[in-house]
Amino acid sequence: MNTNKVPVVKARSTVEIEYKAMAFLKLTYPDLLKKPAPFPGAGFFDSGKITEILNYDYGIENLNDAEAYTDFDNKRLVLNKNVYEGLHTGCPRALFTLAHEISHIILHSNEIRYRIFNNCQLNKLNRSKIITYRDPEWQANAGAAALLMPWPTMLNIIKEKKLNLFEMATKYNVSYTAASIRMAKYDEYLSKKKPPAYFGGLTSC
Ligand SMILES: [Zn+2]
Repeated sequence: MNTNKVPVVKARSTVEIEYKAMAFLKLTYPDLLKKPAPFPGAGFFDSGKITEILNYDYGIENLNDAEAYTDFDNKRLVLNKNVYEGLHTGCPRALFTLAHEISHIILHSNEIRYRIFNNCQLNKLNRSKIITYRDPEWQANAGAAALLMPWPTMLNIIKEKKLNLFEMATKYNVSYTAASIRMAKYDEYLSKKKPPAYFGGLTSC
């Protein structure tokens, strides 16, 4: 979903998004909640789990102006050909793109399809006009970070102080920027004094 105008969706907090991402990982790759490792993007895409777990069709197309898109109406996730190839060569950006689209399905499919099938108007606005927590693109990026760098394993990294940002990025096969933003999010949670029990709750999710 890379158009300028996007549908305004219901507000979602980062905590809610963390939980949704972990519930998805528990169903698909529970080991990723235990120790830091890359989300197996190519394997996931090729395995049919998109249909099996998410009940979406999927495909590869030559897209001129987008890396990928999620068609909620027809329940279909499409990757641009070079993104699909990037998954197979371990390209962090390709992996983030797949995780972003998966997050759209996890977070927005029911809500948007409900509106489509009840003939409710999708209120589309430029992203700059939407409050962050109601911006589906912000939510999908937060979901992608949560899928690729799950909290329970982040906690281990931070507790053990074994990895710097470059090493962390390599461990999860994400970009340095994505690792930096994720680490900043951790600091933000700490500054708001989210209690350790909160993290404990996440690990048992
Ligand atoms: Zn999107």
